[in-house]
Amino acid sequence: MSTLPLEFRDVTCTFGPEANRVHALRNVSFSLNPGELVAVMGPSGSGKSTLLNIAGLLLQPTSGEVLIDGVETSQMSQKKTAELRRDHLGVVFQRYNLMSTFTVGENVALPLELGGQKLKEMRGEIQRALAEVGLEDIIDRFPEEISGGQAQRVAIARALIGSRGIILADEPTGALDTATSDDVMRILRGRIDAGAAGILVTHEARFAGWADRVIYLRDGQIAD
Ligand code: ADP
Repeated sequence: MSTLPLEFRDVTCTFGPEANRVHALRNVSFSLNPGELVAVMGPSGSGKSTLLNIAGLLLQPTSGEVLIDGVETSQMSQKKTAELRRDHLGVVFQRYNLMSTFTVGENVALPLELGGQKLKEMRGEIQRALAEVGLEDIIDRFPEEISGGQAQRVAIARALIGSRGIILADEPTGALDTATSDDVMRILRGRIDAGAAGILVTHEARFAGWADRVIYLRDGQIAD
């Protein structure tokens, strides 16, 4: 039996006291299949960031269930949640978030290092991860010595190193020009086709074209 990488069941998230409560998400249910990229679109304030933060286990829903690889997460300890995040989830931001004092290889290695692996043992795995995004030649460079497009591909390699199969991308092409954006989307798509699963938050319809499915949020609800 294959389990779903990510599943939201009736997820609701509210902020603020009852008198002026904001419903950031209302009864949101969806799932991600392996090899599937889902784009999340919607106007500002519709709940996209809240959805991504909950999927990334950085925010607990007010009610409902979030399952990662079939495991329900709401009752978990912080320690267990942190482990699940480290082992299953990779996040890509608009601004890459690479560590400037670390080389490209060291940046990609970070999640493995947090998992207790030694840098020497990881060299092969890091090289493989960089080769998968076409960047094996820049392993020893520093972030300021590479282009924005390369930095975002490094971020994708880092997000999916090890056994991690879920990539959560928040406007990953927001800081890139059109041609470079397409390169980055092609790389992301390739990693999804290789078996990962992903959520892509974007406000640009042309990037949603890279996704298998689009979820539109309006006032915290999935619109038809
Ligand atoms: P989007 O990413 O689509 O712009 P958000 O998920 O950021 O939407 O926000 C959804 C709604 O929840 C908005 O009305 C926003 O003001 C509110 N919201 C989000 N985070 C918080 C918070 N930490 N505290 C209070 N309200 C919040």
